[in-house]
Amino acid sequence: MNKKILKADYIYINGVYCQDYAVVFDTQIIEVGDVEIIKANYPDCFVEDLGAGSLLFPGFVNTHVHLEFSSNQTTLQYGSFVGWLESVLIAREEIIQGSTLEVIKGAMNAMLSSGVCAFGAISSYARELEALATTKQKVVFFNELIGSNPQSIDALYADFVRRIEESSCYPHITPAIAIHAPYSVHPVAIVKALRLAKEKNLLVSSHFMESRAEKEWLGGSYGEFKPFFEKYLGVSSSLCSKEEFLSLFRATPTHFTHATQIDEEDINTLKSYHHTIAHCPRSNRLLGSAPMPLAKIIEKEIAFSTATDGLSSNYSLNILDELRSALMIHSDIQLSTLADKLIESITKSANAILGLNGGVIEKGRDAHFVLLRLSNLPSQSALLSLWSILHNERASRVYVDGEVVFNKV
Ligand SMILES: [Zn+2]
Repeated sequence: MNKKILKADYIYINGVYCQDYAVVFDTQIIEVGDVEIIKANYPDCFVEDLGAGSLLFPGFVNTHVHLEFSSNQTTLQYGSFVGWLESVLIAREEIIQGSTLEVIKGAMNAMLSSGVCAFGAISSYARELEALATTKQKVVFFNELIGSNPQSIDALYADFVRRIEESSCYPHITPAIAIHAPYSVHPVAIVKALRLAKEKNLLVSSHFMESRAEKEWLGGSYGEFKPFFEKYLGVSSSLCSKEEFLSLFRATPTHFTHATQIDEEDINTLKSYHHTIAHCPRSNRLLGSAPMPLAKIIEKEIAFSTATDGLSSNYSLNILDELRSALMIHSDIQLSTLADKLIESITKSANAILGLNGGVIEKGRDAHFVLLRLSNLPSQSALLSLWSILHNERASRVYVDGEVVFNKV
């Protein structure tokens, strides 16, 4: 591929907005620096000026999405986690059948148009693989293990292993493992899956402490989950406590999703085991959970991503919509600090969590870029993250592997 050079008013490099910078790339980044130095170093190359108010970011990363449920709009119940879960049990088949190839492609394109160049897809059945095979976006494919009944674990585990194999056949898809949740996977199966993760060097993710119902159930088999489990699974006590569940992951740094109900002790445990967190603010709000304690997580320097979750618990997969909501939800965090942290959570942090080679505009990284624009010249650089989030409904242009894959018309 021929070298290309883009010059932007600002290029976002490792948390800093570098003014009048340019980046040289083919499929990977070759050099980035002051535009005059780049022009001098590459005198024969055309430099495309992205224009007034242009900001170039590394490709955004959405670490947690459920594409198989993309057809949901008004089927699932919102407002209460247990009510939602019950509605999932009832309507699961209908939603999955409705999530056709075209619907899933539409969901991936919606992510792309908001700048998402890579995502973590949590998959229950691997039915979305056909659609994922067609995308230019990078995918970490989290094959999900679920099942608490000891009698059916062997069959479920065999299907889980088959799906991992199936998802290993595509160059842009990295197979990975998702443990559904502490309340829904038997500890014996978790241990087996984590052993497999170690053997095959696979990333691991799990939902964790999403709702108050989950906290109470793990804490002493009481609360809203009790009648739910008695009705649907004929069990009246939890498979394990929160502490027992976390201890299984002691040697496996894991991407835990939601974590709205974690306390100080949990935060310390997550930190000491090098776990990371996926923060899904709109999903948490729509399913009746409290906001994740983001201020604490930032204070303790636990790496976190901001992610959309699936359309089973959201109204869009636009990552910029997610950041706008996060800005409004976490009113206890200073505004511009929060905006900076949110941008980091969908670039450098999310990329590192998924083990990909994007996330930062520097030499040797994959050439994934997102162009955002501000129509008025910014009066100061300290608020650039905030203004970028507030004033861009979608990306203006998106590059994956050095090629334009989206252009706003
Ligand atoms: Zn999820």
